[in-house]
Amino acid sequence: MRKAGTLPQTTTAPANPACVIAAGQRCEHALVDPQLNRSLSAYEQVVRSRFAAIVETLKALSAEQHELDFVPRAQHLARERLGYELPGALLGEAWVSGLDLRALHSYCIFRSFKQCIDQAVSDQASWRERMTLDDEFVRACGYHTLDISPCADGRLQGLLPFVFRMAPAPSIMVKAYAGAMFDVEMDAADWTHRELERLSGGIPDCADGRYLKIAVYHYSTSNPCDQGCAAHGSNDLKATDSALARLNELRAAVENTFGRGAAPDILLVGVDTDIDAIRVHLPDGNGDISPHRFVESASLYHDTLGMTAQAARAHIEAEVDRAENADGWARGHGGVEAGLHRLILRLLENNLSQIEYVIQHHAGRYAVIGHNERFICAGESMSELQLRNKFYFAHLDTVEEGAACMDVGIKIFTGLNINHGLPVPVLVHFHYNGRVPGARERSITRCKRVKAAIESRYPQLHKQGLLHCQMAISDQMGSERCQFIEDDVPVSGH
Ligand SMILES: [Zn+2]
Repeated sequence: MRKAGTLPQTTTAPANPACVIAAGQRCEHALVDPQLNRSLSAYEQVVRSRFAAIVETLKALSAEQHELDFVPRAQHLARERLGYELPGALLGEAWVSGLDLRALHSYCIFRSFKQCIDQAVSDQASWRERMTLDDEFVRACGYHTLDISPCADGRLQGLLPFVFRMAPAPSIMVKAYAGAMFDVEMDAADWTHRELERLSGGIPDCADGRYLKIAVYHYSTSNPCDQGCAAHGSNDLKATDSALARLNELRAAVENTFGRGAAPDILLVGVDTDIDAIRVHLPDGNGDISPHRFVESASLYHDTLGMTAQAARAHIEAEVDRAENADGWARGHGGVEAGLHRLILRLLENNLSQIEYVIQHHAGRYAVIGHNERFICAGESMSELQLRNKFYFAHLDTVEEGAACMDVGIKIFTGLNINHGLPVPVLVHFHYNGRVPGARERSITRCKRVKAAIESRYPQLHKQGLLHCQMAISDQMGSERCQFIEDDVPVSGH
């Protein structure tokens, strides 16, 4: 057994570039919160174990399917290993037509996911309270809303609690799109909505707060040509430029509609999905971003390892200042605005903990640097489960609009599941507002419409039983979370 905090000597994977140290020295940075890392690791174990048990359990069931007392034995095994029972209808016919393992596999994926949603509060209690980038800090930086659009890639699903060390909060929204190519019109509408809330006093203590849009692209330093962003053909430059172009389009959309000065602030962040290090592009005094003006947390970690907390902080600030004043292509007009400057410093410092997390709990670099998602979530995501590679998320209102995201997802799952004979589990999920009459029924109608559209977009998969859609809805404000909706649920008025 290797000691926690030292890199294994025999690994075939390249060492973590952030942790290049002499033999016997430990990667323990003064600005890292080790307690938070332990809590996040325990959380990761709990969540992963709920999914990891599925295949072995199904193999055991498969071996026993012709026993006389199969159904009670199967339910006992499922309760014991998975923590829930299986649908009787899927077990009862096993003696005559064989166990439908594909259907059971999808059912278990959805059911284990629901377990994570139902137990999110207790699962996450130990790390939520240690997060320093919370609602209060965001407000202190002058923002009433952080609107974050990462790529839909499952490797970015742990972005908030892990990579950014950000506590879930009402002021923080996450809308993932393939290649971080968010919908400008929808974002302009969200901006309008939040500004109206602010102006009408609906957001407490934020009379003059601002709106920050963050786009998050990603890349892979160890396998840049294959494991970068699938939506941009693993072309890092294209991923960066495209996300930046969207940010500028959003600024123009709001400014052209509501006048000069109305536009939201923007921030562009890149994530190296091998080691979860970040690259923060620094806006200049006009709020303009250059693909060439940035600071990277991996080199900050490397350069400040062994320093006191105070010295490390001073070094990070100096590096940000240096980048702000860079010349050539990186040149900007003036420094970052004070509130955003503070937020950027916190993001960089927080990410040091995640770099060390990957060093200590994932041997320096993720063992699976590529895709390993369990299912596709289409529609609106639930903020309760945020962990790397748990699901691929396609934010969509209609399948027509979200087609590009769905296609990338299906392509990823062709490699992960279909090529191994397993179906693609797709969770179609939407929120409703329980205070609005009829909203619940309308969200069910919407689920049904999107499910039907997904099935007709991939007719071959659907016909072969390789596409399993489960519908689910959640009340934005209330206690109904990820409630499964079956096909035969009638919808009033339709
Ligand atoms: Zn991507």
